[in-house]
Amino acid sequence: MTAPIAVLPPGSTIGILGGGQLGRMLAEAASTLGFDVAILEPQADCPASRVAAHHIQAAYDDVDGLKKLAALSDVVTTEFENVPASVVAVLEAEGVRVAPNGRALATAQDRVTEKTFLNSVGATTVGFAKVDDLNDLTVAIEKLGLPALLKTRREGYDGKGQVWIKDAAEAQAALAAVGNKPSILEVRASFVRELSVIAARGTDGSVSVYPLGQNIHENGILRTTIAPVEVDDATQARAVEIATSILNGLDYVGVIGVELFDLGGTLLVNEIAPRVHNTGHWTQDGCGCDQFEQQIRAIAGWPLGSTKAHAKIEMTNLLGHEINDWHAMASDPDTHLHFYGKREAREGRKMAHINKVLERL
Ligand code: AMP
Repeated sequence: MTAPIAVLPPGSTIGILGGGQLGRMLAEAASTLGFDVAILEPQADCPASRVAAHHIQAAYDDVDGLKKLAALSDVVTTEFENVPASVVAVLEAEGVRVAPNGRALATAQDRVTEKTFLNSVGATTVGFAKVDDLNDLTVAIEKLGLPALLKTRREGYDGKGQVWIKDAAEAQAALAAVGNKPSILEVRASFVRELSVIAARGTDGSVSVYPLGQNIHENGILRTTIAPVEVDDATQARAVEIATSILNGLDYVGVIGVELFDLGGTLLVNEIAPRVHNTGHWTQDGCGCDQFEQQIRAIAGWPLGSTKAHAKIEMTNLLGHEINDWHAMASDPDTHLHFYGKREAREGRKMAHINKVLERL
């Protein structure tokens, strides 16, 4: 029998791999619960470094840096999914717990592994096939039909590394467009809307699920989330069932984001993010316990907080120079501003988000 996982009291230190906006908001939540935070992030002056007690400035896979992080931390979590297995191994060898666990991180890193796992726990996805070369792609097109979406298996985000194939003659060019990397071909989901569900699992196996949100993307980047979105009881119940089976299947500890396609009553899972998620930012002003506090509670072995919504929120990401309008936004009493403290407003860069209260519930 494995030993029970220690409950970390206030005053313990939470380690975070990554120092971007998610790390910053995690550090803020940890600080509210009385924890210190140590981040590991190569970039100086990053968003999280200005709210964390310790900043180890090193590459994510730097062994000395990881050892320093392990020495400072009572548990280590991450703000991004592409954490190499070797990094988890270094941290665990130093005797520090990593949450979510290495298997959960590895599963979410590879679209084929991810979809195979999801279907194995009853969280249905679109049909798919593994594609390593043109021959695989030709066979996959015959099996799945067209149009279909070719995506790199690893390291695709915000719609990058993806190309639609409408005609079999495009196969070779499509493979070239994704850099001839190991890929996956996916059947097109004829969805009526894109939803997501944020959920958490504690060290005691308890599961807590937030209401569903609806997501609108522009140019492959999330623009808005409206939550709680109106869904029938069966759809919300199905989302809870999907999230629970994923969390239990991975023996997961922490917050997870599950992106869903709503086919009009039937939910398919698009992908999972083993971390706090942009589509969960609405919980900061819509729920008693937001996703950041929930993540800290979960990994520290605390009871999970309430996921009940007290307001309907429209979350909007502010990209690049859109933050220049901050003064006008700040003058709306129903708009809550969340700035990431990034020094440079590059085009398309996520600089901040706002949560507008649409309705008190
Ligand atoms: P992803 O990187 O997998 O989250 O995909 C980015 C976006 O592409 C999604 O939010 C959807 O709008 C769209 N998309 C991804 N996969 C599919 C699919 N199999 N069918 C239809 N649209 C998709």
